[in-house]
Amino acid sequence: MTDTRLMPELRFSPAPAAGDRPAAARVNSLTDLVGNTPLIRLRRIAAHLPETVEVYAKAEWYNPSGSVKDRPALNIIRTAEADGRLTPDKVVLDSTSGNMGIAYATLAGALGYQVRLVIPENASPERFSILRALGASFTLSSPLEGSDGAIREARRLAAAEPERFFYANQYNNPANWQAHFHSTGPEIIAQTDGAVTHFVAGLGTSGTFTGVGRALKAYHPGIQLIAFQPNAPFHGLEGLKHMPTAIKPGIYDQALADENLAVSTEAAHLMTRRLAREEGLFVGISAGAAAVAALQVAETLTSGVVVTLFPDAGYKYVSERFWNA
Ligand code: PMP
Repeated sequence: MTDTRLMPELRFSPAPAAGDRPAAARVNSLTDLVGNTPLIRLRRIAAHLPETVEVYAKAEWYNPSGSVKDRPALNIIRTAEADGRLTPDKVVLDSTSGNMGIAYATLAGALGYQVRLVIPENASPERFSILRALGASFTLSSPLEGSDGAIREARRLAAAEPERFFYANQYNNPANWQAHFHSTGPEIIAQTDGAVTHFVAGLGTSGTFTGVGRALKAYHPGIQLIAFQPNAPFHGLEGLKHMPTAIKPGIYDQALADENLAVSTEAAHLMTRRLAREEGLFVGISAGAAAVAALQVAETLTSGVVVTLFPDAGYKYVSERFWNA
């Protein structure tokens, strides 16, 4: 037993206030921690802009499983539970490039469901290790067919055993974009005190862009929505899709964007390194791409509040060579 007489007297004082940041939550379930992520001003990479042009990123790695995908994963599960498509005997099945799988494995796992994922064989090794650690089972799809091959294989499995699987179908499930319509969008409006003028996001399933975009347009139709995609069919922007050559997600609303940009893998790699070294933000490659697109938009303005979203942190990409430059 510890002899408490040898211990210095402990003095508790409230932690120094960090601005007006409220105390962290005490929760009864991990699912209560999904969403409500911080909005971080990017100062150093935006230092060449006038002070009247503000650039912010939503820090989505603050979600419990470490990415933006906790929002749609939880909403898809909750919606399917409510309408009876997901019952405790069913296995949650979907195709994913990684983050959605980690979100399902984390949240469905915490809610007591089994998870089966279809993943392209060339997804990053870190993702497979994480999914194995979380106890998810997976089926590998052809590395040559990318996320589209995984979609086709998930459809095949779901059709073969409909009574066994709840096919979550993130690319076509409205609960995906609705998660962002009801959480991410309103958070951005509140965190900017309604001053957001531009929203910039990459397209994967397009759930983030569609949901946030619709929420912002409903709040103020003048808010500009800028979508970006990889600039080539074969690219290193994991989580994003080159829409002209991919299976188009059913939830993708092509008419929503006021402007469309293309970002190269090289520019995203460079910016991902800069974010780590200049801003202290160790984020993933699609976050680097988001910063490239957001700065491109901000550079055309004399005043404005540009908001983008950083989908995840850098840990899942540490084995990539671009860090070494
Ligand atoms: N970046 C990363 C790292 C992702 O995992 C995803 C999700 N596929 C996205 C961006 C794109 O998000 P969304 O599916 O909402 O378009």
